[in-house]
Formats: sequence, structure tokens, C-alpha cells
Amino acid sequence: MAIDFEIPAEAKAIRETVRQWVQDECIPAEKELEAGRDYKELLAELRGKARARGLWLPFIPKEHGGMGLGPLANALVQMELGQSHLGALSMNSQGPDDATILTLLAHGTDHQKEKFLKPLLNGEKRVCYSMTEKAAGADATGMQTRAVKDGNENYVLNGEKWFSSAASAADLALVMAMTDPDAPRHQRYSTFIVELPNPGYRIKRDIPTMALEGPLSHIMGGGHSEIEIKDLVVPAENLVGGEGGGFNMGQHRLAYGRLRHGMHNIAMAQRALDMAAEHVTKRSTFGKLLSERQAVQFMLADCASELYMARLMLLHIAYKAEHGLDMRQENSIAKVFLAHMVHKVVDTAIQLHGALGYSRDTPLASWYTHIRSQRLVDGPDEVHRWTVGRNVIKAYQQHGTTALAAGGDLL
Ligand SMILES: Cc1cc2nc3c(=O)[nH]c(=O)nc-3n(C[C@H](O)[C@H](O)[C@H](O)COP(=O)(O)OP(=O)(O)OC[C@H]3O[C@@H](n4cnc5c(N)ncnc54)[C@H](O)[C@@H]3O)c2cc1C
Repeated sequence: MAIDFEIPAEAKAIRETVRQWVQDECIPAEKELEAGRDYKELLAELRGKARARGLWLPFIPKEHGGMGLGPLANALVQMELGQSHLGALSMNSQGPDDATILTLLAHGTDHQKEKFLKPLLNGEKRVCYSMTEKAAGADATGMQTRAVKDGNENYVLNGEKWFSSAASAADLALVMAMTDPDAPRHQRYSTFIVELPNPGYRIKRDIPTMALEGPLSHIMGGGHSEIEIKDLVVPAENLVGGEGGGFNMGQHRLAYGRLRHGMHNIAMAQRALDMAAEHVTKRSTFGKLLSERQAVQFMLADCASELYMARLMLLHIAYKAEHGLDMRQENSIAKVFLAHMVHKVVDTAIQLHGALGYSRDTPLASWYTHIRSQRLVDGPDEVHRWTVGRNVIKAYQQHGTTALAAGGDLL
């Protein structure tokens, strides 16, 4: 069977529409924010315009108010949206909400969909996801937060959570807690919808991080909160996906989050490389434009190579998703590669901008400090490489070649 690299015309068209949307509306709106425009007012205006053009929830089925795009078209769209920090927000496609919306769509009861999902789909509310604890992150099966049934009406939760992104901007939280300590490790946890603000879910602080933050970061959901969970009463009807289903649902949710981070990394790297190219074609040193120096061309070439590999990886994963094929190995490989790729490209763009790159007069410095987290979130590098490596060995043992674990089904 031939390999078909043709992107369907409809997918190309929607990508072009979103590209223009980001360039003509979102990037200029960033400047309005910097100039002091009210965030909520600006976002409402931007969302109103986006929605009027049919640009809303790209990956959500049409019957739920989304654009109904498949994995490939969505990947192309997200690879544009990530160029601006207002891109995904403008189309109600921002993390961490997006992956949680998918969870509720797949596992929510009719009541949960009506009461909790609808306002999320409408962009009236935001949702955060509280899994990680100080006690456990990469190995989430070490979570200590307990949920104990109190009669038939409620569960009562006690424990702590750490690094819940956007909690201080959220109206709802999906909280994971242990319901059965005696069950097999992956069936001990359940997921609960918690309405915020809530006296049992106390945001102790937004954790200061290495990421450069502007005055609006936390309103926009850039904060990561530390939370005390104390005698938190949750109605039993807010249990999502049944007792013991929390871990598997969480992994499914993270799988989309990883891909979205990767897609946005490509967009950011593309914008950084464009900025680098623009700068070197204008800046002269020692009597020559930077762009005429081979050393500079090599730097740009290395970035372009990585960006190309990254794009192909994501398109291949999108292809696998379109055809319902297993893509876990590729997703882990891409998750690690894309996190390093964006780091390298933004770092190179900073280098080529000189002191201007180090300043806060371009977004590069802020991006640089934010993207360090990409090697940690949704599973750190080492955990993914561990899984990928185990699959390499398994493939060799089962097939006498490692090809299947190294993109071999492309052959
Ligand atoms: C910016 C940011 C946003 C986040 N948002 C959320 C959120 O919204 N909701 C949420 O629930 N969580 C969130 N997290 C938490 C994130 O998922 C965890 O940080 C991540 O899973 C790693 O867990 P940990 O930090 O506890 O590291 P640990 O589990 O303590 O691991 C520490 C380090 O040990 C190494 N390591 C771990 N296991 C292995 C292994 N098997 N082999 C080799 N090395 C290993 C890795 O280098 C790892 O970085 C966020 C984190 C960050 C930084």
C-alpha cells in the first residue's frame, strides 16, 4: 500500500482559516493585553468572534457544539493555535480543560453531562484536574487522598493535591482519590467532580515556579495550586466512571494532553524559528547580515530538521488515531522528542536575538521558562523512555527485530 501524504482539502482549509485567525486576531490581541486591556472583556470578545466564525471546540463532535474534527484536522488546527497563548483559549480548546471535557464526554452520566459538561462546552466554566500529590506524581498509584462513602448519598474526601493547573481559575475540579485500598493497584482510585469554590477543597497557594509570569497568568490559568482536601463532601452522583475507574480514565485523559502539548510545542517552535529568521535577516554584525553567516544558517538548519521530525511524528500519530490503531509507543516517543525540540528551538532563537532574546521585549524568555515543564508534565522523560525501552526489548523478543517499536509499521 502506498504511503499517502496528501492532507484532505477540508483539513487544509480549516487549518488555513485557523492560521489566519491566530495571526490576524490572537497575536494582535496579545499586544492589547500587554497594553492593559481587561482580560475577561478581551477574551469574551475574542470568543464571540471565534464562535461566530464556527471556530469552537475543534475536537468535540458537532452534536455537542464543537467542530467535529477528526484527529488529523485537529492536530493541524492545534499546531496553529499554539502560536499564541490566546489561541486555544479563544476556541475553548485550552488545557487542562480540553482533556477533562473529553473524559466527561466519554464517561459522564446524563446528569453529569447536563449539569457539568454543558457549561464547559459553552465556555461559561473552567475545570482543573487534581491527581498529583506531594506524595506521588510519576507513580500515581502512590496517591494517598482517601474517599470514604458516607451512607448512600455522599463520599467524604481527605488528603492533599499539588500542582493542579488552573485550579484558581476553575469552577470545577476532577479529583482522584482512593476508594478501595485493598483492590489491585490500578483499581484503587476513583474520580469525583467537585464544585468550586468549596470549603473542603482549599487552595493553599499558587505555587511559585521558575516560569516567568505576567500579571494575568493566574487568571488565564497559568497557575499551579497546592490544595488541602479536608472533609470534602462530594455527592455520590458526582462519581465519574464508577468506583475504581479513576486510574484508567486518568491515563486516557493524559494521552490526549500529551498530544496537545506536542502540537502546541510545534506551533511555538515554529513561531520562534520565524522570529529568529526575521531577526537574522535584519541584523548585521561585522559588516554582514547574520543570515549570511554559515554558522547561523547551520543553527537554523538544525532547528528546521527537528521541527520537521516533530511534525512528521505528530502527523503519523494523527494518522494512527484516525484509523483506530494503537499509538501508545509513538505517543511516548513523540512526547519526549517534542519537549526537547521546543526547548532547543526557543533556546536557539534566544541566542540569535542576543540580549534582546534574554530581555522581556519578546515572548521568547517567557516561553523558555514555561517549556522546561514539558519534560515533567504528563509523565517525565524517564518514565516514557522506560516504557519505550521496554517495548523495544519486547518487540525484539517477539519478532526478532526492534522495528515494530521504532516506527516499523511505516515500513
Ligand atoms: C507545570 C506543571 C503542571 C502540572 N499540572 C498538573 C495538573 O494539572 N494536574 C495534576 O494532577 N498534575 C499536574 N502536574 C504534575 C505532574 O504530572 C508531575 O509533576 C509528574 O507526573 C511528575 O511527578 P513528580 O513531580 O511527583 O515527580 P516524581 O514522581 O517525584 O519523580 C521525580 C523525577 O524522578 C525521575 N523518575 C521518576 N520515576 C522514574 C523511573 N521509573 N525511572 C527513572 N526515573 C524516574 C524523573 O526524572 C522525575 O522527573 C503538573 C506538573 C507541572 C510541572
